[in-house]
Amino acid sequence: MFDLTGLTTLKLPLHARQVLKISSVENACISGPEIASQPALILGGGSNLVVFEPEFEGVVVRPEIKTFDPVIDGDSVTLEVGAGYPWHALVMKTLEHGWFGLENLALIPGWTGAAPVQNIGAYGVEFAERCERVLLYDFEAQTLIRLTTDEMEFGYRHSILKAQPNRFLVLSVTLNLSRIPEPRVEYGAIREALETLGGSADSPRDIAKAVMHIRRAKLPDPELTPNVGSFFKNPVVRSEVADRLALDFPDLPMYPSGDSRKLAAGWMIDHLGFKGRSVGGFAVHDQQALVLVNRDKGTAQDLRYLIDEIRQSVKETFGVSLQIEPTQLGRL
Ligand SMILES: Cc1cc2nc3c(=O)[nH]c(=O)nc-3n(C[C@H](O)[C@H](O)[C@H](O)COP(=O)(O)OP(=O)(O)OC[C@H]3O[C@@H](n4cnc5c(N)ncnc54)[C@H](O)[C@@H]3O)c2cc1C
Repeated sequence: MFDLTGLTTLKLPLHARQVLKISSVENACISGPEIASQPALILGGGSNLVVFEPEFEGVVVRPEIKTFDPVIDGDSVTLEVGAGYPWHALVMKTLEHGWFGLENLALIPGWTGAAPVQNIGAYGVEFAERCERVLLYDFEAQTLIRLTTDEMEFGYRHSILKAQPNRFLVLSVTLNLSRIPEPRVEYGAIREALETLGGSADSPRDIAKAVMHIRRAKLPDPELTPNVGSFFKNPVVRSEVADRLALDFPDLPMYPSGDSRKLAAGWMIDHLGFKGRSVGGFAVHDQQALVLVNRDKGTAQDLRYLIDEIRQSVKETFGVSLQIEPTQLGRL
């Protein structure tokens, strides 16, 4: 068995029978049938995966394609990027070229191929807004397919890929960027950070710096403190439910989400006094209640207990069910 524990940012043990690197589209087509004949796990940067069962009797597929192919037409830039390109390096490289649109998504860990999986988002921007199409290998049909943004069924931390894990391998994504800045600074925290840093709200590079500043101050670095970012999704509830909750909890932050409202899961967990709470080696981060950290050789069982405590408590007090955001391998 191969020890892949170090390839996930939560550092729960992971061993696999086989590891296969995919370095090109042709390579994916050749290896596709072999991969399809056994259980498969696609692994990029491992920053959004929780391993509940350590022994994986199958093949771990690592899409390491690092292509970067821009087509410039006037002010618009169509950029096809390989699945193995590190996401933050991509954001920085596009900014260096003066191609804008990804600045709010700076410093999100992981590889480009995983970005469409949960439709990564931060500071008011989601991947879907800049995505034109995705090139995939479908292990079930054993063929290449191209899906447009509409066909990807993007939603809040959701896509067709999240609904059917390990069926489709993302090989590349095609992005729509622009040489004309379209700054998105509706988040108060970005404006405050711009002020602190002396940056301009019209400059995408300054916005990226502001986002990095906030993230470094707020989120634990997975290199130093193993974590997978936000552990729970912000629950989306009907407006009547939100109105009732607002009467009991006037400070509970909520945001419009279509006809419904999105509640701040971190606030609820914090309100219940969970910051710093630990079970074995796992703990709720002491500054960011939505992040669970593996503080000291935590086990999957420690994590299960901690998740259970948080979910039960939130359900009892607020009447809402928290859903886990990262992908899970093995049973909770
Ligand atoms: C400190 C920290 C902060 C974070 N902040 C954010 C944030 O602000 N917003 C946000 O949305 N996320 C955030 N995340 C979560 C994570 O970084 C993203 O979801 C990222 O896109 C995961 O990339 P990865 O390569 O590490 O994916 P992995 O963890 O390797 O994989 C995640 C899932 O995607 C699948 N997958 C990976 N690559 C492919 C592929 N090529 N084809 C098909 N399936 C694939 C895997 O099978 C798995 O199911 C954060 C994580 C951390 C640790």
